[in-house]
Amino acid sequence: MDNLFFLEAKCVHTNNTFYIRFDKAAGGVWCQTYGVKFAPQSTTGTAYNKMEIDISKSTVGPQYKCPHCGNTGYVRCGTCGKITCKPSNTKDFTCAHCGKTGVVNGVIKGIGGSSGMGQG
Ligand SMILES: [Zn+2]
Ligand SMILES: [Zn+2]
Repeated sequence: MDNLFFLEAKCVHTNNTFYIRFDKAAGGVWCQTYGVKFAPQSTTGTAYNKMEIDISKSTVGPQYKCPHCGNTGYVRCGTCGKITCKPSNTKDFTCAHCGKTGVVNGVIKGIGGSSGMGQG
């Protein structure tokens, strides 16, 4: 199952957890395909999001959106490093995990990497 990845996130409006699903396409490019409320567990019970992937060249599928509020964007908090949904056309964000507010000043290049994030 190394061609499927679920990234845990929280909805900024409802504060509910959801998962951003990535599918690995031909050429090793990750595509952000769906926002889902539940991530499947592997047979060993290990959460998919323990894995780290390189999404520097990832693409966003037309069907991706937050399953709770419909936001089509997301931000990684510069304070706690976690993911929160946000409208794709705004720069301001509030972290649903730690409550930090800030302005997005970069793009997320890799999950588990150090480059690019929102900072408050
Ligand atoms: Zn949301
Ligand atoms: Zn945070």
